[in-house]
Amino acid sequence: MQGRTVQGIAVSPGLAVGPVHVVHAGADDTPTWNIAREEIALEIGRLANAMNAASESLEERRRLISTSTNEKDAEIFAVHRMILQDPGALREVESSIAEERINAEAAVQRLIRRFQETMGNLEGASVRGYAADVSDPWRLVLDMLQSRDREEIQQEQSKVVLASGELTPHVATYLGRERILAIVSEKGGRFSHGAVLARSMGIPCVVGIANLLPRLEQNMVIAVDGDRGEILFRPEEEQLERFLSKKRQQESRRQTLREESGHSAVTPDGVELPILVNIESVRDLDTFNGEYTDGVGLLRTEFLYMERSEFPSEEEQYRLYRRVLEHMDGRPVTLRLLDIGGDKPLPYFQTPPEQNPALGWRGIRITLQWSDLLRVQLRAMLRASPSGDLRILMPMVTSLEEIRTVHGIFDEVRKDLDRQGYETVDDLPVGAMIEVPSAVLDFERIVAEVDFVSVGTNDLVQYLLAVDRDNPWVADLYDPQHPAVVRALAQIARGAQAAGRPASVCGDIAGDPATAVLLQGLGYTSVSVAPQFVPEIKYAVRRIRATDASSFAEEALAQDTSEGVRGVLQKIRDQVDGEESSRKGA
Ligand code: PEP
Ligand code: MG
Repeated sequence: MQGRTVQGIAVSPGLAVGPVHVVHAGADDTPTWNIAREEIALEIGRLANAMNAASESLEERRRLISTSTNEKDAEIFAVHRMILQDPGALREVESSIAEERINAEAAVQRLIRRFQETMGNLEGASVRGYAADVSDPWRLVLDMLQSRDREEIQQEQSKVVLASGELTPHVATYLGRERILAIVSEKGGRFSHGAVLARSMGIPCVVGIANLLPRLEQNMVIAVDGDRGEILFRPEEEQLERFLSKKRQQESRRQTLREESGHSAVTPDGVELPILVNIESVRDLDTFNGEYTDGVGLLRTEFLYMERSEFPSEEEQYRLYRRVLEHMDGRPVTLRLLDIGGDKPLPYFQTPPEQNPALGWRGIRITLQWSDLLRVQLRAMLRASPSGDLRILMPMVTSLEEIRTVHGIFDEVRKDLDRQGYETVDDLPVGAMIEVPSAVLDFERIVAEVDFVSVGTNDLVQYLLAVDRDNPWVADLYDPQHPAVVRALAQIARGAQAAGRPASVCGDIAGDPATAVLLQGLGYTSVSVAPQFVPEIKYAVRRIRATDASSFAEEALAQDTSEGVRGVLQKIRDQVDGEESSRKGA
């Protein structure tokens, strides 16, 4: 029998095949997957270990409370331990595992749901309270199952395809990059932060596969085609051979591209488009050849903060920034000020729950309110500035006041450093991200007060079209080729040209080679993309004359529909391919 292919949304290119590891996103979102008959004992063993760990933890809490508070308050933990010893409940969970062949966490979740349904529906607050009480120790078992599982997989060496309910930044960084073959998920849009991160790390990725987790078993082999957005469950030998041969072909094309990547992206009529890279962490520096890029166009510093358990000190940040600058050896490095909030939470920095996180407390709004965060980061950046060509980028700018406040703090920080005898670079360029509509509409004034701009199309598209970039229900409405997006991009490029300021695009759309050509035609002076896209973009730019790129831009601007804009992008692709075949034919 042939393995089944299912279609999802292609989020990050590349082909990979390997065993699945299902990531648990949290107790309220417990994934269910099927287990093979021979895994039943293993799953029951996992359950037993988790129950022992939960029981030990309850005893520990009892001891702690009875010494720090009083014996009476500590009693509840003894009761919870007894609840876990109920043989009836244990039998129920074990038989779900064995008879329905589901994973232990799903079986425990089922028991909790049963408690709530049977007791939660009964009249009276005390009965409902009892339902909460009997479920509580089982929730702890769930936590134990999940954290133990994570510890176990982290200790292993094997490479896996991660599967999850949703592709979040947490999932994308769940294991070291070298151990992740690919990621597949039920939910998640192309431009969610998790997807952006996966692309930056070059992890093949497919999202939007309905009912994915119940179809998986831990360690089941799947093939992931991140180019076409397909996944293949349990490929048969012949299917696997076809898949691997495609993978080999793709690798050999990449090799050709790599050979060209040493050249600059100069059009046949002699116009250069610097291609910079977006990076998320210092580890990324080892994943690409610095000589093949024109610099770092966007370092998302928030990811340096995410991989930790507390805010990095000024000294730690300074060392990190200096390392990046030294690594880039005189090429520009654009460090973006912290852009946390929304779906980029820090585990150690609690922000209040929000109805509309994308419109809420994020980016510069947080750092202007908690200005110590900003001051420490600016101090670290300024101290690192003599080590290279550093530029600073402000995220989520919505008004001139924000820019002026940042400049004010920047001047104070610089004066303090001068007084303290630190060497810093004068005239450090400070730029603004253009990613909210007010910054586009007020662009003329904004560009006059900064040294450069960089367009964050991931956010700009969501705010222009009122479509949440992380909401799978509206993922198909998130349309970077919408004519309004093209017009906004043109308006920014023209405004920057008139003000004599460089303008770049660092949102993910620039990673598509045809779009990069279009952006050059619109008047952008550079693009910044995930490192793995650099060779393809150089290849395309080197084949399309700048005058043709301008004509394509005019044509795109004349379109009334997204389809029309996509048609223009296809023409660019055809011309790139045509150039290649005529070169080969000559
Ligand atoms: C963007 O919004 O396009 C961008 C580059 O920033 P981020 O994806 O980190 O919000
Ligand atoms: Mg953004």
